[in-house]
Amino acid sequence: MRTRTGIAVTAGLGLAAAQFAPAATFFPPVRRLAEPWMLSRAHTGRAEVALTFDDGPDPDLAPRFADVLGAYPATFFWQGGRVRAHGAAVAATVAAGHEIACHGDDHRTLARLGPDATAGALRRARDAIAEAAGHPPAFYRPAYGVWNATAWAMAPRLGMRRTLWSKWAWDWHARTTTPQIIDRILAGARPGAILLLHDADGAPGATGRTLAALPEILDGLMARGLAPVTLSTLIAGAPEGYSASDTGRAGAAR
Ligand SMILES: [Zn+2]
Repeated sequence: MRTRTGIAVTAGLGLAAAQFAPAATFFPPVRRLAEPWMLSRAHTGRAEVALTFDDGPDPDLAPRFADVLGAYPATFFWQGGRVRAHGAAVAATVAAGHEIACHGDDHRTLARLGPDATAGALRRARDAIAEAAGHPPAFYRPAYGVWNATAWAMAPRLGMRRTLWSKWAWDWHARTTTPQIIDRILAGARPGAILLLHDADGAPGATGRTLAALPEILDGLMARGLAPVTLSTLIAGAPEGYSASDTGRAGAAR
């Protein structure tokens, strides 16, 4: 009896470990090893980078980000629940030339979400974005950059590439200043970079500091001869990297 319980507990722990093993891609060395299965930079010969923004849409902030970006296209990883609530902001952002990608249905971490809840949330978010944006999202980045095996396996099946980033600015943090946001992003600005910023939430005033950093970030990219493009443009024709139809070797769940 005790042995059987022991086996059950061990098996349970094993399943839990498998469910959360892909979360290790949060750490940069593992992220680089995971490149055949997850996008964190593009292998492109073109002088292009992708500016990406997580967490919106916020109906007041989305037009301000579109204004500051002007003609430079970006990719917004947005939450399905907010997309359903703010369809007009989504349509206006798409009309301004930006791409909408998936950041889950809400901002709960996948580390606490079981397989069925994860699968349901991912489908709801994908469907909400497809409807509001007029195109299905081609990329999925989980909240906090933390995967579980269900999301890892399902994202490509739903037509979304597993995506993290090559450089972030800690721009959500209370003590991050606008000059630090500029410096950190430009320090990671090289061909194929996927640069992560935030267009909603964070510490009080955080999105204001990100907005204030954007003109100098854009100037800095220009000075380096780098063009900001959408993620879809960044990876178009890239000779390396996995395709969205790859269901992945690390995927274990539905
Ligand atoms: Zn987020």
